[in-house]
Amino acid sequence: MKSVYNATDLPAKELYEVFSTNGTLTNLVQEDNGKTPAQRFRSEDGVANARGRILGGSSMINIGFCSRAEDKFYRESGIPWDKDLVQKAYQWVEETIVFQYNLSIWLSILKQALLEAAVGPDNGFNLNHIVGTKAIGSTFYEKGRRHGALELLNRGELKNLQVAVEASVEGIIFSNSLPSKDQVSCTFLYGNLSSLTAIGVIYSDSKGRTHQAFVRNKGEVILSAGAIGSRQLLLLSGVGSVPDLSSLQIPVVHHNPYVGKFMADNPCNNINIVVPFALDPSVVQAVGITSEFNYVETLSYNLPFSFPIYFGLFPNAISPLNTSLATIAVKIQGPLSSGSLRLTSFSGVRAGPIVRFNNFNNPIDLARCVKGVRKDGDVLKTEALEPFKTRDLQGRESFMFLGPSLPKNQPNESESTLCARGLNLIIIEAFPQLSFSFV
Ligand SMILES: Cc1cc2nc3c(=O)[nH]c(=O)nc-3n(C[C@H](O)[C@H](O)[C@H](O)COP(=O)(O)OP(=O)(O)OC[C@H]3O[C@@H](n4cnc5c(N)ncnc54)[C@H](O)[C@@H]3O)c2cc1C
Repeated sequence: MKSVYNATDLPAKELYEVFSTNGTLTNLVQEDNGKTPAQRFRSEDGVANARGRILGGSSMINIGFCSRAEDKFYRESGIPWDKDLVQKAYQWVEETIVFQYNLSIWLSILKQALLEAAVGPDNGFNLNHIVGTKAIGSTFYEKGRRHGALELLNRGELKNLQVAVEASVEGIIFSNSLPSKDQVSCTFLYGNLSSLTAIGVIYSDSKGRTHQAFVRNKGEVILSAGAIGSRQLLLLSGVGSVPDLSSLQIPVVHHNPYVGKFMADNPCNNINIVVPFALDPSVVQAVGITSEFNYVETLSYNLPFSFPIYFGLFPNAISPLNTSLATIAVKIQGPLSSGSLRLTSFSGVRAGPIVRFNNFNNPIDLARCVKGVRKDGDVLKTEALEPFKTRDLQGRESFMFLGPSLPKNQPNESESTLCARGLNLIIIEAFPQLSFSFV
C-alpha cells in the first residue's frame, strides 16, 4: 500500500511539508538550518518570530497581504512626502507583484461573517487601508506562486546594478572624506561627526572571503537590512550608545543613544478552527479593518497528516488525514509598546541580536487586543460560520480549535490572558503544541 511505512524504515528525523498552500506556510515552520528562507528567532519576551534571509527579504516569507498606507501614517511620519511620487511607486509595485482574484469559499464566508459582526461597510476590492471589510491585493498569484520584492529588480535600471547573493555585510565603512587608494585596506575609518560619511561596506561571501565595496563620488550607502538587520549593522559598525558599544569593545564611530531602541512589532493573536470538511487553501485576501483595534485577517490550509485524536470526534469529517484549518488573526497596527535590540557580542553579524518587543506593556495596546478578541467572539457567533462547527459524540455542535481558543464567557481577565498567550506571528507556532479545545 502506498504511503505506509514501517517506522524502522523512516529516518530518525525528517521534515514534512506540513502546510501546503504551495509553501506559503512551510517556510515559516521549517526548522532553521542557517540557509532556510526564514531566519527564525524568539524575542527575549518569548514570542516566536521570523525574518527573511534571502533575496527579496521578508517579502519571500510573508503572508502577501497588500494595502497602501493609511493617511495617518503619512501625517505622523514627519516626512514631507511627495504624494504623486508615492502613488507612482505604489502603482509600479502593484502592477508588478500584486494580484486580485476571486475569493475562495472560506474568504467569502469570513468576509460575510465580518460584515455580520459589524465590521462594515463592505468596501469591495480596495487597495487603500480603510475601515470596513474588503478584498485586498495579494502577492500570491492565485493560491500558488509567490511574487516577492526581488521581481522588482527586473524593472530596475539594471545597467547600474550588481547584486551579490549569499553575501553577509559585516559592517559599514565610515570616513570623513572619500576613499583614497590606501583606504581600501582599512576596516573602519573614523572622522569627526560633521563630515562623517558612510563610504562603503565590508561583506563576506559563502566561502568566507572578505570583500570591500566602496561608493564612487557622490554615491550613497543605503542601509536596508530590515528592522533588525539595519540596527544590528549600525551597532556593529560603531553607531550607537557609547556605554553599550564600549561594554562590547566596539570602537565608537558615532554616539547615538537611540540605535536599537523603540523596537516594535504588530502583535497578532490567532485562533485556528479545525474545519469539519475539506476546505480549499487560501492566502490572506480578505480583511476587516476597524477603527478600534485594527484588523482581522484570515487564511485556510490543509494539514496532510493525521492528528492524534479520536476518529469519532469527526462524525462529519471526510478524513482526519486531510484536515482543513481556518486561522483568524487579530492584529494591532502601530503598537505603542516598544522594546529594544542589543548585541550579545562583537563577534559579527551572524550572531543574532537580542530583541525585545514588550508587547502589551502599554495598557492601550492590551485594551485594543481585548477588543480584537471580542470581535473574534462576535465573528464566531455569526450565521455565516455555523457550518464550521464540529459535532461531538453527544451531538453538540461547537467550534474545535487547534491551539488557544476564545474564553467562553469572555471575562476581561481571560481575554487579557489570551492576548498574552495567543501572541504569535501568524501561524508560526500554533501547531507544535497540538492541543485541541471545543468552545
Ligand atoms: C511571517 C511574516 C508575515 C508578514 N506578512 C505581511 C503581509 O502580509 N503584508 C505586509 O505588508 N507585510 C507583512 N510582513 C512584513 C513585511 O514582510 C516586512 O515589513 C517587509 O518585508 C520589511 O522589508 P524590509 O526591506 O525593511 O526588510 P526585509 O524584507 O526583512 O529585508 C531585509 C533584507 O536584508 C538582508 N540582510 C539583513 N542583514 C544583512 C546583512 N548583514 N548582510 C546582508 N544582507 C542582510 C536580509 O537577508 C533581507 O533580505 C510579514 C512579515 C513576516 C515575517
